[in-house]
Amino acid sequence: AKDQGRGCYAYFSEDQTIAARERIALETRLRRAIEQQELRVFYQPQVDIASGRIVGAEALVRWQDPAEGLIPPLRFIPIAEETGLILDIGKWVLRETCRQGRRWLDEGLPPLTLAVNVSPQQFRRGNISALVEAVLNETGFPAEHLELEMTESGLLENQSNVMELLNKLRYQGVRLAIDDFGTGFSSLAYLKHFPLDVLKIDKSFIDDIPHLQDDMEIAATIIAMGHILGFKVLAEGVETPEQLAFLREKNCDSYQGYILSPPVPAEAFALLLREQGIN
Ligand code: C2E
Ligand code: CA
Ligand code: CA
Ligand code: CA
Repeated sequence: AKDQGRGCYAYFSEDQTIAARERIALETRLRRAIEQQELRVFYQPQVDIASGRIVGAEALVRWQDPAEGLIPPLRFIPIAEETGLILDIGKWVLRETCRQGRRWLDEGLPPLTLAVNVSPQQFRRGNISALVEAVLNETGFPAEHLELEMTESGLLENQSNVMELLNKLRYQGVRLAIDDFGTGFSSLAYLKHFPLDVLKIDKSFIDDIPHLQDDMEIAATIIAMGHILGFKVLAEGVETPEQLAFLREKNCDSYQGYILSPPVPAEAFALLLREQGIN
């Protein structure tokens, strides 16, 4: 065993060993966190640019760790992806979001589109269509108010039956969005074959508006071409009035960003909605 241990050091540096150990520890904690219901869904408003009104929200998961506090998704989603725990997490987030959406409708809040992130793993082996069907039935949340966000890589990795799957989901009545658009390798010309509703322009193209001419041209082109192909276009990560003015001028449909609000708990989101007045 000792020899083997030494052998290991030939392949893994000490840092890598520590990193691997930390990952296993995190996986164990995460598994427990799911069981103990320490996950939370936060909601970030999606705003219609023409009217300035909140028309939807993206559901974003957090981990409320009793010791560490609120842990952001980038610290546990990648590990959840690797270990398959993302299937349980994704299922939980979808159900929780639809339940919350139903509650808001029952409270008389205006109908909203709630967008939920779907990981490539869920596409590959999660039977996402059956899950959506079950959750919509169980919660009574209307299909047409649910939007699923997928990344380009999620689509590209699953080429064989992806079209069939997307068509099925569309047929079920849910809306489909491409997340982080522009960061992958797919072109708009390629995406036009997919039954999509929304393109979400990645934050990295919005960040340097109005300072980087290239990014402004890319963003404007995505908006214009997206419209030609029949998609709605949403800009992510809008932080300044200049960025919002630019997007308005280019006829971008909607945005999310800190300029209005970061993702917040359900109660805080409902307050934002009530502040803008119901209808
Ligand atoms: P994403 O899907 O691209 O989500 C947008 C991220 O941008 C969110 O980070 C949001 O808080 C952040 N953001 C929005 N507006 C602004 C802004 O104006 N400025 C800045 N600096 N950031 C902004 P968050 O919540 O930390 O989520 C990070 C990523 O974790 C998400 O990126 C998504 O890939 C993943 N994620 C979150 N929840 C889920 C989930 O339920 N399932 C899956 N599969 N992935 C999730
Ligand atoms: Ca997203
Ligand atoms: Ca995104
Ligand atoms: Ca992103």
